[in-house]
Order: sequence, then structure tokens, then C-alpha cells
Amino acid sequence: MKKNLSMTDVRAEARFAGDLQPTQHPAPDEGRGRGSGSGSGRPRKRQVLLSAPRGFCAGVQRAIDSVEQALKAHGPPVYVRRQIVHNAHVVARLERMGAIFVAEAEEVPAGAVLVLSAHGVAPEVRTEASARGLRTIDATCPLVTKIHRETRRFAQAGNSVILIGELSHDEVAGTRGQAPGQVMVISEPADIGRLEVPDPERVAWVSQSTLPVEFVAAMVSLLRQRFPALTSPPSEDICYAVSNRQNALKVIAGRSDLVLVVGAPNSHNCQSMVTAALAAGARAARRIQSAEELRDEWLAGTSTIGVSSGASTPEVLVQEVLAWLAARGYPVAEEVVSTVETQVFAPPRDRVPAQWPGPPAAGNMPEPGDTDLLPGELAAAEAVARTTAARTPHRVLPCIS
Ligand code: SF4
Repeated sequence: MKKNLSMTDVRAEARFAGDLQPTQHPAPDEGRGRGSGSGSGRPRKRQVLLSAPRGFCAGVQRAIDSVEQALKAHGPPVYVRRQIVHNAHVVARLERMGAIFVAEAEEVPAGAVLVLSAHGVAPEVRTEASARGLRTIDATCPLVTKIHRETRRFAQAGNSVILIGELSHDEVAGTRGQAPGQVMVISEPADIGRLEVPDPERVAWVSQSTLPVEFVAAMVSLLRQRFPALTSPPSEDICYAVSNRQNALKVIAGRSDLVLVVGAPNSHNCQSMVTAALAAGARAARRIQSAEELRDEWLAGTSTIGVSSGASTPEVLVQEVLAWLAARGYPVAEEVVSTVETQVFAPPRDRVPAQWPGPPAAGNMPEPGDTDLLPGELAAAEAVARTTAARTPHRVLPCIS
């Protein structure tokens, strides 16, 4: 049942475009001649195309490093609010090292060390942690902090802020919390017609960082039809890592009978990659958590398998998939490199900085409400976002639903 939508969230029940999976095109042996049983009748050489970049982004690496460094500096246990990144393999490994994952700060004993996840939190979470005397290390990705800052600025200027995102996602919860009562979440085109705002001349949008670029562009186009005075953020909210992984996958998708995206079911950027692969011409695309989920029947009629992984997926899981394929006659993994990533985010401004690399160059300082950013880090993150926005073509689609 939908709620009254005046200055409340639009409760989207439909799934994102990113959840379309596993197979959207004809099966490999029915289709367009890339399979081993098609064309000339001669078996095609089996191969694996491995897209790059893939796997951990700078924000995920920073978050994992934050937990590891906290364990080294303070000893176990170190508490972590929610999954530090959306990957069960990562979580299980950190648990073995002594991390304890909790849903809320109230579960953490007073005085303990608490790490906040890469997805970001509402300010009230930090306030509660502080009130409980917790020693907090905030591993919110700087690119999410950038979205938090945009949201606060839009709201402080009197705008209604439309947040394009998945209501149940941790990142969306954190962004909503930046301006309680002024942020409305929309998840699909139909939500736009249900929006009610106090002043249609004062409406701004932001988005979750991990959505498909095309989806956000389509949603913004529709929002602008409803609110012609719509204000946009100064730079795109879809992060460099998400765009890079999607674009790299698109390069190999058109050559692939089957694309395998390795990543967790609750990882939104992995779901977005499946959508991107199908849109780019892959005959079939599946998200798998690990090699254990692979099925021999998926390979029927295939000659070229594309492989990639989401921003929160450890490379070891990709290598296990490649080994599984090799054991079935797909021996050569050709890496197709689209972009070389060099981005590294400096560590959180926490209580255990000694083991981290040196401080970044001076830049703008955090403002109240920002996460634990070192001087210069937010400026660096915003520069990354601007560069990504300049590189990424905004192909506006009429509708995605
Ligand atoms: S996917 Fe992007 S926004 Fe998310 S943690 Fe990685 S760098 Fe940050």
C-alpha cells in the first residue's frame, strides 16, 4: 500500500532495472551465431574475456583497510555497523580476524571501537555512537560523503531533495538522514508522478552512487519534465568505479555468449553490471556470488564467456570462477583493459592513523556533518567525480522500468 507522498518517501515496490537477471536474451545455442553449434557448424574456440577494471574500488579498499588497521591497533574485538561492504566473503574474513558485525550502535559495549561502513550513515548514527562513548572510525566512502554534502546544501537552500535510489539500501538511508523530512526517495519512473513538493520551483536531485548511469539519466529527464526548474548536483553522483566497471563490461559483453558478474546479491553495483551487460549485447548475464553457484548447463552452446566483478568483490572469487571454467575447457582468460584506475582514498580521520600512508595535500576541510575526512580528501573525491562526469556520455533513454 502506498503512503501519502507529500514530503515523504515514495515507497517503490518495483525492482530496479539493475535487478533484471539472469537471462534476458535468447539462450546461447538459439541465437546469433556466436555459440559452438552455430554458423559454419565448426566448433568455435572457447575463450574467457576478463574485463578490467573489476573488483575492489578505492572506497571499498579503504573501508576494509579501516577494519584491519583498527584490529591491529586496538586488538579484537572491533565492532562494525552493518556489512562494511556488501560481500559475505569479506565479512566472514574480517569476522575470523576478530571483527563483530552489528546492526546498530546500541549493540556495541560502551567504550568499544566501532567502524561505520563504506555506505555512509545518517548523522544521528554518529551522534548515538558518540553518546555511548564509542571510539568511532568512519569508513564512509568520500564519494558518498560528497553526496551527503550536496544533499545538505540543497536542503539548507530550501529545496525539496529528490533522491534516486533503492529505499532499502544502506547508502540511501544515510543520504536521507542528511536532511530529515526534506528528502524523497524515488526508485522508478512511476514514482515521479506521485511526488508532492511544497514549491515546484525549488526542487533538486541527487542519486545513489551505484546506479546505472543510463537509468539515472532517464529518471532525471523525466523529473525535469515534471519540475522544469530542477537543480542538478555540480557533478555526477554515479561514482568513477561503478562507471568504469560498467563501461569495461560493455566492451566485452557484445562478444560474449554468457557474462558472469561475481558479486553479492545485495551489491547494487553488481546488479547494475548485469543490466549493463545485457544492454550491451550479451546473450545472457548472471550474477553469481562465487564459483559454487556455477552450473554446467549454463555453458551449453557457449564459446565465449565474459567475466567481471563488482566493486565489493575480492579477486580471489573471480580467480575461482576462472579455475572452474578452465576445468571445463575454457582455458584462456584474456584480460580486456578499458581503464587503468589509480585512485586511492586516504584513510579515515580516526584514532589509529599511524600505520596509514602519509597525509594528503592540503585542501578543503570537512564541514559539520561530513564524515571523518582528512583535509584534501573531499576535494580529491570531488575532482574524481568531475573527471568521471566529463568522460561519461549521458545517453538519455525514454524510459527504463
Ligand atoms: S563503489 Fe564508488 S561510491 Fe561505492 S565505495 Fe566504491 S568508490 Fe565509493
